[in-house]
Amino acid sequence: MENNEDLFKKIIGHCKEYGFIFQSSEIYDGLSAAYDYGPNGIELKNNIKEYWWKSMVNMNENIVGIDSAIFMHPKIWKASGHVDAFNDPLIDNKDSKKRYRADILIEDFIKKIENKIQKDIAKARQKFGDQFDEKQFISTNKRIIDREKRIKDINNKFNQAISNKNLSKVKTLIEELDIKCPISGTCNWTDVRQFNLMFKTEMGSTSESSSEIFLRPETAQGIFVNFLNVQKSSRLKIPFGIAQIGKAFRNEIIARQFIFRMREFEQMEMQFFVKPGDEIKWYDYWKGTRLKWHENLNLGKDNYRFHDHENLAHYANAACDIEFKFPFGFKELEGIHSRTDFDLNAHIKYSGKKMQYFDPEINQHYTPYVVETSIGLDRMFLAILSSSFKEEKINENETRTVLKIPPQISPVKLAVLPLTKKDNLPKKAREILHSLQINFSCQYEEKDSIGKRYRRQDAIGTPYCITIDHETLENNSVTLRNRDDMSQERVMISDLKSIIETKLDLSSLLS
Ligand code: ATP
Repeated sequence: MENNEDLFKKIIGHCKEYGFIFQSSEIYDGLSAAYDYGPNGIELKNNIKEYWWKSMVNMNENIVGIDSAIFMHPKIWKASGHVDAFNDPLIDNKDSKKRYRADILIEDFIKKIENKIQKDIAKARQKFGDQFDEKQFISTNKRIIDREKRIKDINNKFNQAISNKNLSKVKTLIEELDIKCPISGTCNWTDVRQFNLMFKTEMGSTSESSSEIFLRPETAQGIFVNFLNVQKSSRLKIPFGIAQIGKAFRNEIIARQFIFRMREFEQMEMQFFVKPGDEIKWYDYWKGTRLKWHENLNLGKDNYRFHDHENLAHYANAACDIEFKFPFGFKELEGIHSRTDFDLNAHIKYSGKKMQYFDPEINQHYTPYVVETSIGLDRMFLAILSSSFKEEKINENETRTVLKIPPQISPVKLAVLPLTKKDNLPKKAREILHSLQINFSCQYEEKDSIGKRYRRQDAIGTPYCITIDHETLENNSVTLRNRDDMSQERVMISDLKSIIETKLDLSSLLS
């Protein structure tokens, strides 16, 4: 059986072969942790954006969008805490010379213990069958209790060391746990150092007039500093939200998981402004709403789980991640954070501007609290692609590779295929193409056998193929082939649009 690492390699290869994702600067041997989206990739990416934007902005009368600049005043990053605290603890192995994030080494160690717990539970479930009571088993089984206590102890030690800024304690913990470098297999570690993740550049043409600025590490601050502009110009009343999709940049210490961790990536963020005291109610609301958004895509409910943060960031009073089961295990896909009034108050202090909201209902000014939902567009792309990648046996000798992407967001919705290049079939096919391409993204293909063309469309996830044959010329009917079960039905050209429309319309995901 194939392991997940092989599967992941296959998916990466597939992304290149079928024009989804290319390594940036490939002909110069690549630039690490930067990727380019190809013709199919950009279509899928745009469709994901549209699904998110429609659900956030179009379907909520109290949420509006913005597009703020990537360059912002450097003081913004001082106020937000990024200049002083947007750090990751890094550690090097002296033998392999490989660099790691110390927190991730510890996190992975904990995940191994969690996996052991899950294995014990699965074994017990198999043994006891229907009578198995998972809750009772977890609370009484000594091995599980010991393992959970161990996880708690490690988390406590790590959180204490980080909040006391005691990096030597982080190193001691790694040594105590006997965590080894996967490359050299040794525990020969350097000291742990903090590394700021922001990219710096210069703005201005001469050295005297130029100033050091940062590439934004998150899109959120562009929303905070515009909060009153947007509220006033759109006449919004609390609670209301501001949404934004845009690039963010982080000089990640390690970036070895394809588009999961990039140095230039895209975020889809929404900041929801609420009355102080109401934030936990809205935090719970957005947790539920965001999970539903994911589940509507039908990638499998078991692929998602919440992970509540134990070690809260300096600005948060509640936080969790929605994790997704990527080929390399459950990892963060989206963050939901109750950010309190930290950011707005910091900007009030650093800018010296009054930025309070006037609440007409209680006749009072106050600084709103903020609940944030923040999802990486590229991680969402990877979640969709990795869970829809299937290799299926279709008969004794043949397999097919198919991307079972949710049809509503597939890069190409329809392929129009004349059975042969002769007998005026291409002319008829192009007529059909022209009548449909205004509503759906279509591809026209006439080269190779029809079987080969179906395989190519399966490989890019096209939900429907329309085949034009000699019967079409006689009675205006075509074959409509379904990607998922490969079934074929004969339908009239005049019915095509309405048949397909209901299946491909985004509103079926949104409603
Ligand atoms: P991680 O713990 O994986 O480094 P984070 O907690 O720092 O992520 P946030 O600051 O909460 O991430 O950012 C919000 C979202 O942006 C994340 O849930 C993720 O989907 C995405 N994201 C963050 N960093 C990257 C990156 N380097 N590459 C791609 N997407 C990213």
